[in-house]
Amino acid sequence: MSNIIAIVGRPNVGKSTFFNRLVEKRKAIVDDFSGVTRDRHYGTGEWIGKHFSVVDTGGYVHGSDDIYESAIREQVLIAIDEATVILFMVDVTTGVTDLDDEIASLLRRSKKPVFMVVNKVDNTNLHIEATAFYSLGLGDLYPISSMTGSGTGELLDEVVKHFDDLPEEENTLGKYAIVGRPNVGKSSLTNALLGETRNIVTSNAGTTRDSISIHYNQFGHEFLLIDTAGLRKKGKVTEDIEFYSVMRTIKTLEEADVILLMLDATEGIESQDINIFRLAEKNRKGVVIIVNKWDLVEKTHKSSKEFEDRIREKIAPFTDVPIIFTSVTEKQRIMKVVEAAGKVYINKTKKISTSKLNDIMLPIIQNFPPPATKGKYIKTKYATQINGRSPMFAFFCNLPQYVKEPYKRFIENKLRENFDFEGVPLEIYFRQK
Ligand code: GDP
Ligand code: GDP
Repeated sequence: MSNIIAIVGRPNVGKSTFFNRLVEKRKAIVDDFSGVTRDRHYGTGEWIGKHFSVVDTGGYVHGSDDIYESAIREQVLIAIDEATVILFMVDVTTGVTDLDDEIASLLRRSKKPVFMVVNKVDNTNLHIEATAFYSLGLGDLYPISSMTGSGTGELLDEVVKHFDDLPEEENTLGKYAIVGRPNVGKSSLTNALLGETRNIVTSNAGTTRDSISIHYNQFGHEFLLIDTAGLRKKGKVTEDIEFYSVMRTIKTLEEADVILLMLDATEGIESQDINIFRLAEKNRKGVVIIVNKWDLVEKTHKSSKEFEDRIREKIAPFTDVPIIFTSVTEKQRIMKVVEAAGKVYINKTKKISTSKLNDIMLPIIQNFPPPATKGKYIKTKYATQINGRSPMFAFFCNLPQYVKEPYKRFIENKLRENFDFEGVPLEIYFRQK
């Protein structure tokens, strides 16, 4: 159901070097969304057609050396719970250290696939030295050099065997997830939806053992609600809440098609909310914004409009997103949320036929072509929607390198005006004919 690689290991073994090699630079999520650390440590990658998320746990350890050990310990435990596959990285040049031993003993108890990755094996002579790590009792060794890339292909070939193929064609049910800061009303909404139906068809479906999805089928709406709010295990994770919530958000984003981002009307949209929004946008997830606790807001005839405008200002340029004002406790507009999410899911999965796309878009492009560059005119021949997890459009022309961002933005707006992609990030490419 989700494809998440967690890289664990002590500092300086080369985790972030390997991470950088793994994530697609173009798609890497540069800005950190926890707002605390600066390093990049979450990104997405692809190997032989399988897409995945990568988390470099090293980026989350801050503070002095003496807290390193307990922090790493904590992260390994979280990774065991949350990741699909764990890469345990060690350094051939130092041999087995005490901390390696300690991490290994945690990982040996895990039921998740663990790959013993011996890094800095820059030349074949070091292969012999790498065998020392068999003593950690984690099975096969994967000697690699993050610096040169050698061995990484063989490793990834094995890793992706544990992953689902995306997109999942067989399951056409939309998967929704409610995300947001603590106390905004996520569990209340989940409960309200469940109160509407006695129809909990499944729990714990899929491959990840602690992911609960609730099958909702009522009033003509059928979807899976991925419940992450209810999963917190009491007393288990205390110290590393930041890393925990990051893992949770990543996992939710991996699994869901449509993110229901819930805000508290009395607090408005805060930087943490915007970070989650950006993450959803970059992951090409559908988004519905819910402004909850609307009952607590002193209302004038224009207050919801003002509120909406303020949100759209903050989430620009991706502003074509439904915003629903709810009061879960007073059961106001809960069905509107379900309807909006359903519509976004349809928008996210719909395919525009090539003929219809060209009938509408070519005349628009003819009337407003990309500006000529260096005296050369850009002629667009045709457009087509590319199959993918979310709507992508390719426009074929003679000089794609001259088509700049503002023009792509213009095309995106025209697509939105003509085809209704509310709530869905779009990707637009200009390609050589
Ligand atoms: P992290 O703390 O585990 O994230 O480790 P880094 O990725 O920051 O790497 C620590 C140091 O090891 C850096 O100086 C890297 O350049 C170096 N390093 C990483 N991978 C390799 C490798 O494959 N071979 C060699 N020789 N050095 C490496
Ligand atoms: P979560 O942490 O996001 O899951 O938030 P909860 O669902 O636990 O809600 C936090 C608190 O807000 C609880 O006391 C709820 O009763 C309250 N709450 C939830 N929705 C509303 C609402 O629409 N209006 C008001 N006034 N309170 C709400």
